[in-house]
Amino acid sequence: MRYPFDFTLTQALYMSKMGRQSKRFPTVCMLEPLYTCNLACRGCTKERHTGKLSNRLSVEQCLKAVEDCGVPIVSVCGGEPLLYPELPELLAELIKRGKYIIMCTNSLLAKEKLFGVIPPDNHLFVNVHLDGMAKTHDFVTNRPGVWQQAISNIKECKERGYLTITNCTVFRETDVDELEALCKLLTDIHIDGILISPGYNFENSEEDVFLSLQETFEKFKRIRGFIDKYKITSTPAFLDFASGKFDVDCSPYSTVNYTPNGWKAPCYLIGTEFYDDFQTFWNSVDWSYWESHKDPLCANCRMHSGFEQGCVQRSMGKFSDMLQLIKWQFSG
Ligand code: SF4
Repeated sequence: MRYPFDFTLTQALYMSKMGRQSKRFPTVCMLEPLYTCNLACRGCTKERHTGKLSNRLSVEQCLKAVEDCGVPIVSVCGGEPLLYPELPELLAELIKRGKYIIMCTNSLLAKEKLFGVIPPDNHLFVNVHLDGMAKTHDFVTNRPGVWQQAISNIKECKERGYLTITNCTVFRETDVDELEALCKLLTDIHIDGILISPGYNFENSEEDVFLSLQETFEKFKRIRGFIDKYKITSTPAFLDFASGKFDVDCSPYSTVNYTPNGWKAPCYLIGTEFYDDFQTFWNSVDWSYWESHKDPLCANCRMHSGFEQGCVQRSMGKFSDMLQLIKWQFSG
């Protein structure tokens, strides 16, 4: 299966319940307890790696945010979560509340802060950032040797029994053959999932490494061609969308983002406003405007965080697409 059965069932039941109540609802909380990082990757927003550790969220603030938005899945990102001093406590509390956690990390501190400190759990996915083979990943992360360390930590994660997945952003420099070589390598390591998404020009990134829409379509047409050979967890519908086969509305509300500055609006990428309180955030954003993705800030965006939910919901509305989705989930 592409995702563990209990994870898929929880998500499906939640989406079916929420879909009966409302057109718009959050599915994942992108929880960023800190904006401090031990890397400064190309393509990352400046605030996400320059924040002071003293400006981090408390565990109570994090738990309240997750409770307030009510989602079953929490993506703990940042900043680098392994630098968050209260991480073991935060994860234990989220697991106690039945949440599924996707902890997004560059893995550099795994030996000191993960192994032997945070136990493996079937509610915890360790999601290692990996944007290609050694040359590309070290270029993107701006430091030699990061790829080698990430691969070695992924192997150790697997040996220690962690659910281990990777997150790969496709940039202008990404060579699709190289990406397939990475998928093969990760499959040989028995990775539990490979998420692939187009990179998008964050509004305050200083690097021009992002794809034009045409480049996104071309690269993702080729990626779509090898989805069945590897445990890629981006859905076929999302990859069809990223290949330019069809368009869907953006669902910026599906991945709500809580940060040291508050709830970020309208989406994980664009922070035009920040709110302290979830209800005020939810009721203040003009969702129908951002759904249209016609704002100049949205130009070229095909980000997974904005469009995956819309692609899945589109599949659910057509029998043949739904069958393809179910078949995909049970393969790999
Ligand atoms: S298209 Fe959606 S996810 Fe992308 S920048 Fe616009 S609102 Fe955000």
